[in-house]
Amino acid sequence: MTETFTDIAAAHTRAASGRSIAASTRMEMWQGLSASVVDRIAERWQATHEAYRAGRRQHYFSAEFLMGRALLNNLLNLGLLDDAEAAAASFGVELSDILEQEPDAALGNGGLGRLAACFLDSCATQDLPVVGYGILYRYGLFKQLFEAGYQKEAPDAWMEEGYPFVIRHEEDQRFVTYADMTVRAIPYDMPITGYGTDNVGTLRLWRAEPMEEFDYDAFNSQRFTDAIVERERTSDISRVLYPNDSTFEGKVLRVRQQYFFVSASLQQMVDNHIEVHGDVTSFADYNCIQLNDTHPVLAIPELMRLLMDEHGLGWEDAWDIVSETFAYTNHTVLAEALEQWEVSIFDRLFPRLTEIVYEIDRRFRQDMSERGLDGARIDYMAPVSGGKVHMAWIACYAAFSINGVAALHTEIIKRETLKDWHDVWPERFNNKTNGVTPRRWLNQCNPRLARLLTEVTGSDDWVRDLDVLATVADAADDDVLAQLMEVKHANKVEFARWIKDRQGITIDPEAIFDVQIKRLHEYKRQLLNIMYVLDLYFRIKDDPTLDVPKRVFIFGAKAAPGYVRAKAIIKLINEVARLVNDDADVAGRLCVVFVENYNVSPAEKIIPAADVSEQISMAGKEASGTSNMKFMMNGALTLGTLDGANVEILDAVGEDNAYIFGATEDELPDLRRTYDPKQATEQVPGLKRVMDAFVDGTLSDDGSGMFHDLHWSLLNSNGYEPADVYYLLGDFAAYREARDRMAADYADQKSWARKCWNNITASGRFSSDRTIRDYANEVWKIAPTAI
Ligand SMILES: *Cc1c(COP(=O)(O)O)cnc(C)c1O
Repeated sequence: MTETFTDIAAAHTRAASGRSIAASTRMEMWQGLSASVVDRIAERWQATHEAYRAGRRQHYFSAEFLMGRALLNNLLNLGLLDDAEAAAASFGVELSDILEQEPDAALGNGGLGRLAACFLDSCATQDLPVVGYGILYRYGLFKQLFEAGYQKEAPDAWMEEGYPFVIRHEEDQRFVTYADMTVRAIPYDMPITGYGTDNVGTLRLWRAEPMEEFDYDAFNSQRFTDAIVERERTSDISRVLYPNDSTFEGKVLRVRQQYFFVSASLQQMVDNHIEVHGDVTSFADYNCIQLNDTHPVLAIPELMRLLMDEHGLGWEDAWDIVSETFAYTNHTVLAEALEQWEVSIFDRLFPRLTEIVYEIDRRFRQDMSERGLDGARIDYMAPVSGGKVHMAWIACYAAFSINGVAALHTEIIKRETLKDWHDVWPERFNNKTNGVTPRRWLNQCNPRLARLLTEVTGSDDWVRDLDVLATVADAADDDVLAQLMEVKHANKVEFARWIKDRQGITIDPEAIFDVQIKRLHEYKRQLLNIMYVLDLYFRIKDDPTLDVPKRVFIFGAKAAPGYVRAKAIIKLINEVARLVNDDADVAGRLCVVFVENYNVSPAEKIIPAADVSEQISMAGKEASGTSNMKFMMNGALTLGTLDGANVEILDAVGEDNAYIFGATEDELPDLRRTYDPKQATEQVPGLKRVMDAFVDGTLSDDGSGMFHDLHWSLLNSNGYEPADVYYLLGDFAAYREARDRMAADYADQKSWARKCWNNITASGRFSSDRTIRDYANEVWKIAPTAI
């Protein structure tokens, strides 16, 4: 008799709890169900591994993978949802309660890490031979708590209760050597299931461990604590994810982490290649590496080292292989994000790599001067200059492909950020507009809408091919539109219940849900958003008869713990929330909700309930954005600037189906020349009142002066940046006009619903399946390999 899924899940649950099912906790049931899923896919995972081994393969190197939860995603991919429901029922609990036990694997900061996770999903679904490599951080991105409106950080020990979706492979360990220590790198593999395929991909995450289980000599010589300290120093390497998004932090531990995972991954790749193909000379024929930003760029000198020192190649042969192996993705034009390490740090950690980097630098300079570049330009572009190693420049020199992540972004890097490289190697540059997986970001998070789309299109093919939705763009009759609005309403009711449970806030599902969720950054302009809210609040206070639709303003954002001004903005939003939510005069009309601890799973609750998607970065600064795409797929309308992928969203839906405002990237330099924020404050009606509220006691920062600083920074230059660098006051009037108009348009529900439908059905090109297909065909040169 074959065992049912329920039998297997019960067995794993009992093994996890050591008790009867009745006495097992929901967490133990989650463990049991998760182990059952791994059991179910183990044979296919092995088969996939073997099928990919012999052919050309792609390796995705990323310091971050923001995976979120795994169980529901796997159940849906494998068609096991009904079985899991049955198992939960036999345990006497709701499946949803079990699913809520799972911690998010928050091994990333924001968009860059989430992109890597969406990419793995698309690779698995399309049977592409791709493996992800990263770090198994013991502590993921910090947990955010609000205390008196201030962000506080708490550690996120996400694996502490056990995590069945990573499997330790001790037998596949490698050693990583620094000048001052050698550590063991132990791989932990996470299965990546695809939708409607038997293939199972792999994310390989490395964990650092001491060479010896214990230093018995130290122990015996009574240096017991020294021995413990030494062990801890080793494990430090994979202990914590640095919580910075788009800023460079020159911490030695960070460069140690980077070297750790690229060295271990490359060693394994080279060993595997030799095992299958005999020797290293054909390495680049079978292996391609995508570098997700500059964090893994040490892989370039490290592969040189392995090929020369471990496998006997000369410089030219090794460089030929290296320069055919790497492709580099640029993710930002922000100057503060550019990784550049002190040469002295390199020297201290890996002197051999320093030698190699200097040799790359020497040859680069020679190459460029032969091409006739002048000395100053060469010095600017050189891998080593001013006592610093420039990671992006090494990447640009070695990589055969350099890509931006949205059309506008790619144009900006060609024209400005990486102009010098574009002048020399225009053929290396290409665009790969980001995407998001419709499995997690539509089918999984929005089952009501998924059912409607399946009904209207006649099958669930859209889950694997989102372009199918375009075929029903014109199919929305009144009945479909009414159903769409019912779906949205039900999602809003569900979100209202969730936020009530979680934070005790009551919101009205009849209101417009207007949402901005993303990392807290000045360039993303959450401050502009909350200034509008303040202005609207004052307008209603002034004139209680003002006819404005009911609004709920929803925020979710973590600030890097050291980013003082970002934390001040969080406090400000929380203070505005207090002011507005406690005021009986606006009760029922305005409400501000700051969702604590924004992460992948909260995003899955918020996005299906959103009406308005705030994408209001200063034009030219947001490389792509991906939450804009998630919102679009779920029928929220974009209120945004012409920035990042917003430009392409506008192109896909047309002007009638998006609300675009503000200065454009090409207008800004001219506008800036004559821009006077003080004058703007005086001239734009209502703006001064909003600014004054920062400093006149309307909002309290508890005497810390942080709101004064925000106020000051909008009106004054600090010497190296102009006043109001991100042009909030310059765009305020246009933003207010567009946002007011949008809210008024909401009243015509049918016309609004049609816009939502147009957004959903036009979202095919923002599926990460499209992005990955383009990488696979144009950069990686790999083909689907079904098992
Ligand atoms: C999609 C996503 C992001 C990226 O959001 P942007 O608005 O594109 O910056 C960040 N964090 C989480 C948890 C996400 O799911």
